[in-house]
Amino acid sequence: MSGHLVVVGTGPAGIRAVEAARAAGHTGPVTVLGAEPHTPYDRPPLSKTVLGQNTDGQLPALREDEALAALGAQIRGGAAATGLDPAGRTVATTAGPVAYDALVIATGARARTLDGFTPAAGALTLRGYDDALALRAMLATARQLVVLGSGFIGSEVASAARDRGIAVTIVEADPAPLARIAGPAAGAALTAVHTGAGVPVRCGVRAVAPVLTAGRVGAVGLADGTELPADAVFVGVGAVPETGWLTAGDGAALELDPTGAITVDTALASSAPGVFAAGDAATVDGAPGGHWTAAVEQGRVAGTNAARLLAGGAEAPERFGGVPFAWSTWHGRRIQLIGDTTRGREVDDGEGLITRMVGDKVVGAIGIDRPREIIKIRRQLARDTAPAPAR
Ligand SMILES: Cc1cc2nc3c(=O)[nH]c(=O)nc-3n(C[C@H](O)[C@H](O)[C@H](O)COP(=O)(O)OP(=O)(O)OC[C@H]3O[C@@H](n4cnc5c(N)ncnc54)[C@H](O)[C@@H]3O)c2cc1C
Repeated sequence: MSGHLVVVGTGPAGIRAVEAARAAGHTGPVTVLGAEPHTPYDRPPLSKTVLGQNTDGQLPALREDEALAALGAQIRGGAAATGLDPAGRTVATTAGPVAYDALVIATGARARTLDGFTPAAGALTLRGYDDALALRAMLATARQLVVLGSGFIGSEVASAARDRGIAVTIVEADPAPLARIAGPAAGAALTAVHTGAGVPVRCGVRAVAPVLTAGRVGAVGLADGTELPADAVFVGVGAVPETGWLTAGDGAALELDPTGAITVDTALASSAPGVFAAGDAATVDGAPGGHWTAAVEQGRVAGTNAARLLAGGAEAPERFGGVPFAWSTWHGRRIQLIGDTTRGREVDDGEGLITRMVGDKVVGAIGIDRPREIIKIRRQLARDTAPAPAR
């Protein structure tokens, strides 16, 4: 099979797309464009192991060098996509135009920021390896850290800072941690994980602005008038899809949702022929990204379908589905979310397992150090959502 497959993004979705295209029989040229100079690496370890290291640790590589080389792909780090011409089937990049026959976009997301909370003032975010090194350097001298946002990354940074003996306070605008994807019982259990480790969580109040002393943060001003003393701030208030480069010309080159995510169907096909999107940059049938397992699986589906298209598109496309799953580690406790944790009634067993029930059916669960039960629920949900066998 020939035809040029271009993948934009060297994260797990992009690299998995290349592997899947090769596995599906694509033998033609493959180019992978990456904005960062680093070889492909993984993000979950950044807020877990990398922040805990004291010296320059190794980049958490996504694949061994030999496995990458075996893909027979040209991986061009430092070549950022800057525009897309779907009619001319060309990606503009900082290293010149690249023509494609099929394209997979997997440019992930970038950290959201808050006005006034700048790196110069001592307020950092975390998305990439370089961010992790800067944050680690800040934590090496910090004594009082205020973390804005109690989502996964804010909570993991709070844990890493606490492990270093730093006094940490979390400020959360919502009524509880993960309030948008978890109910009140889960929120209370997750709050207890932080408070049990000596990290107070101030919920239901917004941070307004840093209080600066000689240009550096000395406190964080909250909407209720409180000032929390701080010599360092971490801003962990979510991420936005990294798709600004698609709107560089007149209007968007592809259909985007209001958050800026590329809208794709369950075959990961975008609004432009031959263009697929996967991972945190995409919204699949309206469901936003943000989690590793989904990014990898979407990369697989997008790469497979791109290869099939290049081969003539005879086979029915692969479809993305499966049971949503996410994990995190706070203060050494394993947090896992499975299925739909937003609907149904909460049933709390009081020992870290909060299930979501619709009628007598479990539709989702949150576990704190309950991996066995989560695996069982995962299997059950997979059986519930599996298509009926053909007769
Ligand atoms: C610190 C941290 C910890 C996390 N921990 C967990 C966890 O414990 N569990 C979990 O489920 N999820 C976790 N996640 C989320 C998970 O890492 C993401 O869902 C996953 O990385 C998404 O993969 P992706 O390939 O879509 O995007 P990314 O991993 O973001 O990769 C996108 C790549 O595209 C590149 N790129 C961007 N723009 C361009 C451009 N214009 N041109 C070329 N290249 C470009 C970027 O440099 C990047 O290398 C974490 C995320 C972070 C930041």
